[in-house]
Amino acid sequence: GNALPRPTRRRVITVANQKGGVGKTTSTVNLAAALALHGLRVLVIDLDPQGNASTALGVEHRSGTPSIYEVLIGDVSVTDATAVSDQSDNLFCIPATIDLAGSEIELVEMASRESRLKEALTSQSLDAMDIDYVFIDCPPSLGLLTVNALVAAHEVLIPIQCEYYALEGLGQLLSNIELVQAHLNRDLSVSTILLTMYDGRTKLADQVADEVRNHFGDIVLRTIIPRSVKVSEAPGYGQTVLAYDPGSRGSMSYVDAAKEVAERGVQHREAS
Ligand code: ADP
Ligand code: MG
Repeated sequence: GNALPRPTRRRVITVANQKGGVGKTTSTVNLAAALALHGLRVLVIDLDPQGNASTALGVEHRSGTPSIYEVLIGDVSVTDATAVSDQSDNLFCIPATIDLAGSEIELVEMASRESRLKEALTSQSLDAMDIDYVFIDCPPSLGLLTVNALVAAHEVLIPIQCEYYALEGLGQLLSNIELVQAHLNRDLSVSTILLTMYDGRTKLADQVADEVRNHFGDIVLRTIIPRSVKVSEAPGYGQTVLAYDPGSRGSMSYVDAAKEVAERGVQHREAS
């Protein structure tokens, strides 16, 4: 595809929402794949012990594989834990293995437990791999793993499902983000909201979309991701929807969303 602009500084984007099943992982891997397809170099960090992002990127994540767990406990460097996705030479992933499941508890005892990911993600290691974008896929909780992701990032992207109770729990997420901004990471902002799993046949979906736009304004991407069978089938083949069915509506909508993310990033930097 045509190249998208490289950001003027590397963007580290945490994809968070403590609700499960809202499209965090799907949005992470497909936005990352879309940016990679357009010439950008993208690293996905899988921070969910389920390892769904690793699966969708076709990256090995059996227990024992060098993973984000070893990075957090300090046994392995970011560079050594990074694998290349078989879907693009520009697309990288630090996988999550089931070993990450116990880490919320292990981290409690560790020094600088909230900033271990930030400390591991040195600009040296990311420069060496020439990474333009880092996406961090969070688990469905507000525990220490998500806190590590918020401390390590510049931006938060919140996927919101166009469904009942879409906004429920968002207040809690936003107040956690404010706490991190106040105490641990002044550089953090909620830059992007992405509406997902939109079903145009229901009135409800439009109501939710309107409500989210009224509440959050310009940070909501114009592109809405439709509910699509292809999107949900792709991970079963170890693929993003961009690899699985590039011409599908789901794939094209993620490409549109990624273009908005890339363009906004440039505007955002120029304006600030
Ligand atoms: P989360 O990471 O927030 O838990 P996922 O990205 O894993 O959410 O999505 C939850 C489920 O919904 C998965 O089975 C996924 O394949 C499916 N899904 C996500 N986005 C879509 C979509 N646009 N259309 C259809 N199914 C989707
Ligand atoms: Mg997930």
